Amino acid sequence: MYITLIDERVAKMAPEFTRNGLQRAALKWGHQFSTLLYPVARKTLPYRPKMWWIPRLPIWAHPRRAPHSRPWSTPVPAPADELRTGPGVQLIPEAQQRAFDEAPLHDFIRLHPEMRGEHSPTGHMWISLLSTSPRVQGAARRRAQANRRPEATAPAARVTPAALTEAMKREAARLGLAAVGVTAYDIKYNYAEYHGLAVGDTIIVGIVEQNFDSTQMCPSLRSEKAALSAYAGLEDRMRLLAEWIREQGYAARAEGFVGESMVIPYAVQAGLGQLGLNGQLLTPNAGSRCRIEVMSTDAPFLHDTPVDFGIEGVCDKCQICVRRCPAGAIPAIRKESRGVVKAKLNTKRCLPVMGKTAGCSVCMKVCPVQRYGLPAVLQEFEATGRVLGKDTDDLEGFDWPLDGRHYGPGERPRLAAEVFETPGFEFDPGRKVPLDWVDPTGTNTEALGY
Ligand code: SF4
Ligand code: SF4
Repeated sequence: MYITLIDERVAKMAPEFTRNGLQRAALKWGHQFSTLLYPVARKTLPYRPKMWWIPRLPIWAHPRRAPHSRPWSTPVPAPADELRTGPGVQLIPEAQQRAFDEAPLHDFIRLHPEMRGEHSPTGHMWISLLSTSPRVQGAARRRAQANRRPEATAPAARVTPAALTEAMKREAARLGLAAVGVTAYDIKYNYAEYHGLAVGDTIIVGIVEQNFDSTQMCPSLRSEKAALSAYAGLEDRMRLLAEWIREQGYAARAEGFVGESMVIPYAVQAGLGQLGLNGQLLTPNAGSRCRIEVMSTDAPFLHDTPVDFGIEGVCDKCQICVRRCPAGAIPAIRKESRGVVKAKLNTKRCLPVMGKTAGCSVCMKVCPVQRYGLPAVLQEFEATGRVLGKDTDDLEGFDWPLDGRHYGPGERPRLAAEVFETPGFEFDPGRKVPLDWVDPTGTNTEALGY
């Protein structure tokens, strides 16, 4: 009886996203077309940063990929005791410090400069980038220009930190950010190339919610474009929020989506979510269907604290992404890594697959927290002891671009060895770069086409 009830509820809550045969064939042929032209398209990679000047339609003219502009307001119920693990993520501070002292984190592109070139395993994104680059680069350019003057533009407002924080969060909601959180700057989360650029000891984490319908179509060009459009919307909103802070009399500097820091640890510390087994930030309202950016400031905002939403407990009961990942890249067990207890994704398996399958993101698509929101998942667990949508095709099913087939629960694509090959790209997580390393293309994060 419970199973019937769950199925009925899932059917009622979720519209039908499964493609028909014709759409699946289009998915497959679209992928083959993009692969066929890839050798030519990748030669244009060095020129892509210059696309910001191309005129573009307003984002509302792209309803299928536009991010949502609504602040999250759904209350999140307290999790059942069985699902509680602890606030945020389990940290081992001494091990974190040791890892940082021995090898600080580096910008991935600096560590692997070949990623920028024509051998990039994500070069297959060229079709999505073709139509979204002008918007993404335009937003990034405006932010980089604003960052040239991160200092205050007015005398400091005479208000209490609590009133200032409340006003900032109101402004963030007005700008269309889904959520913001405040936490302390931590050099351990800052890539070594960007040490010293923060303008204060406080970090604001901003989130934009990615388009719901398009995300349920992962993997596809449509969902990949929705992700890139969400980044563009986030860049503009964070730049405007930084401007507002400067007008209140404090310095503020938005980092941009290419990133100078690891944003997920900051988001967890700011109480915006917890780490899912899929390695992503699971927010209570939209799971990992969101894009995150941070900014540094010297404004005296009140800091938020990590929260136990019950997400790690839900993951332990769920494990859907572990079973559904076509590359088998998600471990079921958390282990300590650089002082953080987490399920460490096998990037070497994930990255090439992601690059060749329109960003893949099956692990995002099949996540019940992404699809139904945590309140519904907790409610279902409380009532039935089950994970909402688990074992249903509606949640777990996906169409696979490499063969145009639909894979329901219990089935996974078989990936040939060459899918994991990345000619010209040598993935080496242990690689070290000298701090004075100079990008041979001269296009560092700040200068990327701006
Ligand atoms: S699919 Fe399940 S296990 Fe994976 S991140 Fe989402 S809730 Fe956690
Ligand atoms: S993006 Fe795809 S390959 Fe990578 S972890 Fe997620 S499901 Fe697996």
